[in-house]
Amino acid sequence: MIRIETIIEKLRENHPSVDEELLRRAYLFSARQHRGQTRQSGEPYLVHPLEVANILADLNLDPICVTTGLLHDIVEDTETSVEEIEEYFGPEIAHLVEGLTKISRLDQASTEERQALNMRKMLLAMVDDVRVVLVKLADRLHNMRTLEYLPGEKRRRIAQETLDVYAPIAHRLGMARVRGELEDLAFKHLEPEEYQKLKELVESRRSRLDAFLDEVSRHILEMMADSSIHVVHIEGRIKRLYSIYQKLHRQHINIDQVYDLVAIRIITESVRDCYAALGVIHAAWKPIPGRFKDWIAIPRENFYQSLHTSIVGEGGQPLEVQIRTREMQSIAEEGIAAHWKYKEGRRGTHTEEDEAFVWLKRLVEWQQEVKDSREFLDSLKLDLYPKEVYSFTPKGRVIELPRGATPVDFAFTIHTQVGLACTGAKVNGRIVPLRYQLRNGDVVEILTSPSAHPSRDWMNFAKTSRARSKIRHYLAESERVTAIELGKKLFEKEADRFRLNTKKIISNGDLDRIAPDYGVARTDDLFAAIGYGKILPRNVMSKLLPPDRVGELEQEKRPTLKQVVKRALGLQDRIIVKGIDDVMVYRARCCNPIRGEEIIGYITRGKGVAVHSNRCPNMPGLQVNPERLIEVEWMKSDAQHASAYPVTVRLVTEDRPGMVADVTQAIAGVGTNIRDIRASLDEEGRGQLVLTAEIFDMKHLEKMTGALKSIRGVIDVERTSGEPAQV
Ligand code: MN
Repeated sequence: MIRIETIIEKLRENHPSVDEELLRRAYLFSARQHRGQTRQSGEPYLVHPLEVANILADLNLDPICVTTGLLHDIVEDTETSVEEIEEYFGPEIAHLVEGLTKISRLDQASTEERQALNMRKMLLAMVDDVRVVLVKLADRLHNMRTLEYLPGEKRRRIAQETLDVYAPIAHRLGMARVRGELEDLAFKHLEPEEYQKLKELVESRRSRLDAFLDEVSRHILEMMADSSIHVVHIEGRIKRLYSIYQKLHRQHINIDQVYDLVAIRIITESVRDCYAALGVIHAAWKPIPGRFKDWIAIPRENFYQSLHTSIVGEGGQPLEVQIRTREMQSIAEEGIAAHWKYKEGRRGTHTEEDEAFVWLKRLVEWQQEVKDSREFLDSLKLDLYPKEVYSFTPKGRVIELPRGATPVDFAFTIHTQVGLACTGAKVNGRIVPLRYQLRNGDVVEILTSPSAHPSRDWMNFAKTSRARSKIRHYLAESERVTAIELGKKLFEKEADRFRLNTKKIISNGDLDRIAPDYGVARTDDLFAAIGYGKILPRNVMSKLLPPDRVGELEQEKRPTLKQVVKRALGLQDRIIVKGIDDVMVYRARCCNPIRGEEIIGYITRGKGVAVHSNRCPNMPGLQVNPERLIEVEWMKSDAQHASAYPVTVRLVTEDRPGMVADVTQAIAGVGTNIRDIRASLDEEGRGQLVLTAEIFDMKHLEKMTGALKSIRGVIDVERTSGEPAQV
């Protein structure tokens, strides 16, 4: 097993001020939390986080990243929480570990959802700090190195995913070495026979090719010295197996026709030396036409820079020559994990995914301007896919939603019935309000009840068009049913007053007959229109009364205020106010009545019955249309279903220390939740407190105001009419 001290030593080379204690603590913590767990290979589990940390140290990444490597599986695989990680190792590492835990959920996604492009996108979308990706790549690399211990089916799936998802990400980040190893390992497990065959083909040529590379290298070094070109390093390489395999398949050639089967890499001190070296090479050997590439002048999208040319060497052996500076070399090998020294690049984007990588260029350019590494690390926190959010069902299904989507959107995405019956939601095991905005990686559980139904309020936060149209449809449907009932009731009342028999009128078809006069088709539509307040029942009476009685309508026309109230109270049928979000009956915002208060209903034009408090400042205005007033009463109180309403009260107090604390304590003392509290001083230097509390009924309110009034220094307590303060 690799030792933690070896890893610390590696880190010390590039980060002399590394917090060694932090790493040792992370190591011990990881050892303790993973104690008793083993890998498929039979080794203690701890080997894995250590190897991952080691890979990260080899990539020359910062100590935070390496520490995260030690801790990366703890939240996923042990009882440890992110909060504990934060407590012991700080918010930065906790955030990275949390990111890794979130993307590990993708492993549970179904085959369909794991489609390569999707998966890559999902993974990157969930990451707001590129170091999460780097640790994930190191994690995958070690898992690939030990893949033979897994059962065949799982092995193939992971190898394929590595090829489809992780190798391309490594490529996009410019990490050639990691990408190369991932690809070769995946190839070995996916096509074991092809892999073996190709390996033998290369092995049988290896000694000849190695000798060839040695000879050419020596020759090149001599020539460079003759031309006074400073060569930092020269190395030969045989192309990686998976690369050869792809080339053979794509171009239908055999191995000896692969131009770049062997390559020489010349590392120089400067860009000028790169071009000078190229001149020397082209003077000594004839270049193969069409094979020269100047990636220095025009870098690749992942910021790779180099000169490439191919020549034919001794014995007709083709050879690729790559020439680049030391800096270009480190970027070619390690990509983003290199020393962030990249000079300049060219932007060329085609797909959304390409777009997402443009940040890298900006990042690196910006790095040249500011030398503060703290700021630089902050800039690594990025949003690669700002328009989407990916969340999960408890079973691991991935649900893609637009940014800002809520559990209601999630519910309707799963199924219309789930949306319609939705009563609440748990996110990551905790109850959240339905208007909660989902975050990447959230596990969402929708709570449903057969008697539940959508509320008008949902339209204020539902984001997806699917959810919105389903809610709208439901509301329209149920509104119509309620409107018909309400309309019928209102009509009946009016008919009773004129001693007309509603049942008879309906069975005679009288209403069907006059419905078209109001632009509607049938009796039900007429009732609905009355219920919506579009047609007044009085108006319909005029068509039903015999001509000699129409005059009675005139006499009824303008009752006095006294008559209105008396009539309203004298009515037999009452509309019962069940709750605040009943479709056709709602609490008026101007006075915000609560249970136990004297109330009266007002038939609005088109929105059903608004319930006002008798103390409503708008009362005089409402009485202008007495025919729209209707008696309402609170349904018998039912403690279990009692809903709390936000009520705002204003306090005038002496300005003394501890006042706000006393107020909140008094409110808590009567078992009340505070939604909002704001304090200020008025011109006279008195304290002004405006607070919104959740109140069940009048009794409750009186209890609370009583408690407030008994606080020393409270001068006045007054309930405000109108909307509660926005929280
Ligand atoms: Mn792992």
